[in-house]
Amino acid sequence: MNKGMLATALLALLPAAHASESDALAKHNASLTAQVVEWRRHLHQHPELSNRETATAAYVAEHLRQLGLQLTTGVAHTGVVALLDSGKPGPTVMLRADMDALPVTEQVDLPFASTTKTTFRGQEVGVMHACGHDAHVAILMGVAQSLTQMKQQLNGKVLFVFQPAEEGAPEGEEGGAELMLKEGLFQRYQPDVAFGLHVTSALPVGVIGMKSGPAMASADRFVINVSGEQTHGSRPWNGADPIVASANIINAVQTLVSRQLDITKAPAVVSFGSIHGGVRSNIIPDQVELVGTIRTFDEGMRAQIHQHLPEIAANSAASLGATAATTVEVGYPVTVNDPQLSQWAMPYLAQHSSSEAVVNTGLITGAEDFSFFAQQVPGVYFFLGVTPQGQDPRHAPSNHSPKFYIDEAALPVGVNALTQLTLAQMNNPKL
Ligand SMILES: [Zn+2]
Ligand SMILES: [Zn+2]
Repeated sequence: MNKGMLATALLALLPAAHASESDALAKHNASLTAQVVEWRRHLHQHPELSNRETATAAYVAEHLRQLGLQLTTGVAHTGVVALLDSGKPGPTVMLRADMDALPVTEQVDLPFASTTKTTFRGQEVGVMHACGHDAHVAILMGVAQSLTQMKQQLNGKVLFVFQPAEEGAPEGEEGGAELMLKEGLFQRYQPDVAFGLHVTSALPVGVIGMKSGPAMASADRFVINVSGEQTHGSRPWNGADPIVASANIINAVQTLVSRQLDITKAPAVVSFGSIHGGVRSNIIPDQVELVGTIRTFDEGMRAQIHQHLPEIAANSAASLGATAATTVEVGYPVTVNDPQLSQWAMPYLAQHSSSEAVVNTGLITGAEDFSFFAQQVPGVYFFLGVTPQGQDPRHAPSNHSPKFYIDEAALPVGVNALTQLTLAQMNNPKL
C-alpha cells in the first residue's frame, strides 16, 4: 500500500467520507450531460398534453428498463414508477419529475422546436413544453442512470416517479400526484423523503432557489352563479338584477382577505378572472357567472375562505333580491417544504450541487401538485434557474409563455442537485 492508497483507505473510514463520495458523483454526472441534453431535446420536440403522455412514458420506460430497474407503467394513466434497490438497508428516497406539456404554440427558434398540434377543448392548438417539464424528465432520467451505476455505494432504495398531468387533468378526468396516491403509490413503496425540482425563468441559469416551510400557494377555482329575475333594461324595478348583484359580490369579496383573515400569519389572494352575463344593452339577464381563483399559504386560512366566500356572495346577492350559489373546486394544497430537511438541503446544495448560488425564493403564489406528496412525507421542492447569462430574469419570457427558453447549462446542475441530495440522505439519513 503506498501513501496515496493509505490516504484513500483512511478517508473511506472517516464520517467525512461523503465529501469524497460526492466529488466522485459530480465527476460521474459530468459524463452524462451530453445524453441528458439529447433526451431533453427529443422530449421537447415531442410534447404531449396532460394524461396523454404515452410516447413520453414509453421513452422513459425504455431507458429505465435498459438500466435494469423494476418498473411499473400506466400509473395514474401514463405514469412510470421505477425502484432502484441497493439491496442494503436504508431509507427510500423518492424523486419526482412531471411529464406533461401545455396547449401553447412554440415561438422559440430552435432546431428541435415543437411543431406538434393537437385538439384541446374542440380547438386545434400547438403543444409545447412551455413549463419545462421536458427538462425535469431528462434530468431524472440522468439521475436514474447515475444512481444505478453507483448502486454499490448506496444504502436503501430510490423511487423514481415520472408523473402525468401536473398541469391538471382534462375536464372530467382525474390525474397527477393526487391520483397516483389514490392508486396506492405510497402504500406500495413507503418513501421516507421526497425531492423534486422545477425549472424557472425567474432565476439565472444554474442558480437554485428554495424556501423552507410554506413555499408555493394552494390553488382552488371557484364559480359563483348569480341568479336574478329577467326584465327590460328600461324597467329594472320589475325584476332582480344579477349584474348589479355581481358588482356587489365582487366588491364585498375584496374584504374577505383585508377584513376577515389574520394576514399577519400569511398572505392570501382571491381574484376574479371571468364574468359572463347578458347579451344586449336593454335586457337585464337572469344569470351571471363569476369565476375566480383562491391562493393561500396556510391550510387554516384556506378553509376560512372556503367557508366565508359562499356566505359573502349569498348575502350580497340577497340585499338586491338575487341569489348566489358558490362552488369551490378544491385544487392543489399549499406546497410545504419540510423545515428541517430544507434547512439542511440549502447549504448542502450550495456546497455540492455545482450551482452558481443557492438563494431563498420567498413565497410563490403559483401552485404545484408535488404538494400532495409533501403532505404525506417530508419533502423538499426547489427551483432551478434557466435564464441565460446576460438576460434579466425579471423580463425573460416566463414559464407557460410561447417564448419560454431553457439554457441547457442548467441541466447538469439539476442532475447534480438531485443525485447529491439522494446520496446524502441514503448514506446519512439523520443529516
Ligand atoms: Zn406549469
Ligand atoms: Zn410546471
